[in-house]
Amino acid sequence: AWSSVPAGPPDAILGVTEKFKADKSPKKINLGVGAYRDGNGKPYVLPTVKKAEKILSDAMQDKEYLPITGLADFTKLAAELAYGKDSKPIAEKRLAITQSISGTGALRIGTAFLARFYPGAKTLYLPTPTWGNHIPIAKDSGLEVKQYKYFDKETVGLDFEGMKADIKAAPEGSAILLHACAHNPTGIDPTEAQWRELSDLFKEKKHFPFFDMAYQGFASGDTLKDAFAVRYFVEQGHQILLCQSFAKNMGLYGERVGAISFVCESPEEKARVDSQLKIIIRPLYSNPPVHGARLVSTILGSDELTKEWLVEVKGMADRIIEMRERLYNKLVELNTPGEWGHIKSQIGMFSFTGLKPEQVDALAEKASIYLTRDGRISMAGLNSNNVEYFAESVSKAVKG
Ligand code: PMP
Repeated sequence: AWSSVPAGPPDAILGVTEKFKADKSPKKINLGVGAYRDGNGKPYVLPTVKKAEKILSDAMQDKEYLPITGLADFTKLAAELAYGKDSKPIAEKRLAITQSISGTGALRIGTAFLARFYPGAKTLYLPTPTWGNHIPIAKDSGLEVKQYKYFDKETVGLDFEGMKADIKAAPEGSAILLHACAHNPTGIDPTEAQWRELSDLFKEKKHFPFFDMAYQGFASGDTLKDAFAVRYFVEQGHQILLCQSFAKNMGLYGERVGAISFVCESPEEKARVDSQLKIIIRPLYSNPPVHGARLVSTILGSDELTKEWLVEVKGMADRIIEMRERLYNKLVELNTPGEWGHIKSQIGMFSFTGLKPEQVDALAEKASIYLTRDGRISMAGLNSNNVEYFAESVSKAVKG
């Protein structure tokens, strides 16, 4: 039946891991994966997650289906984490929210909703570059994808003027995706002052802000600071859409816990949006998995566990920030040609090093160091045991 099915290309990021696995060198480093690693390069299960697992295991709850929109305790707590407990749309009962299959599932539902109901053009604007999966997710949902400028190769920083110009040039009422914090893959975010300007610009053009927040707390170590853009836009009266993921900030990657929410005009509008969310989700997967949502609600539902979790998430962010410092210092100490300040100023798991594809290839061949050819590295793959070796290898690759 499938004789005419063409072979598709491999996934760019997972391909890096394949090459890494095949390498026999004891010094090999995988900087492709977007998952946190501890100081010994090992996956990390948060202590609060272990405590929540124990609480759940002792409680032995049943395994019945969740409602289509998921665990109500979980979505309430997820909304409060993102928007704040005193947020107006929550208090005024006009936030439509549903549990999702992590951040990817939230994006898939959000784009499907836009394709079905957005009153403007069925187009989603994405930054250049963006997380690779944004493009196929939007297209599979039936949206057309257009892009706006974001990254400035020269400064290895934000091209804020280019970004504003493209957002201004988009037709009035365009749907535009914004990374709420820790932009993937660049690690470059607008400043708070720039977010304020963007909010004004969105108002002026009546654009629709579609926020993707996959790294709340994980970016800076502070869940409030990372939610600045989202909360500011909401305060300013924007009716945003927000995708959330608990993969990174609780280390729940494989549990697939996320949420998608829509700030509506009124409780009546919220009820209509809720009804259509159910109609979109039901034929996709009926209802979401229960365990991860229970873990998150056990943690966020307890003041004590929440306090501990905030320390743990800050610990992860701080370890990454320390690696940025050490990598920067070593590159400078080795007189590596070029400006490396961006290594320290970038935010979150990833760093856009500015390494060229040939240099990336040289790192793989000569030093058994693996990263994607766009020069993106996962900072989480660096630790005390390998950061110096990595810096020395980069320095050599740059010197040629
Ligand atoms: N958005 C962005 C920007 C991401 O980087 C990721 C994770 N790589 C996601 C969404 C979704 O991840 P997940 O489905 O694992 O929550």
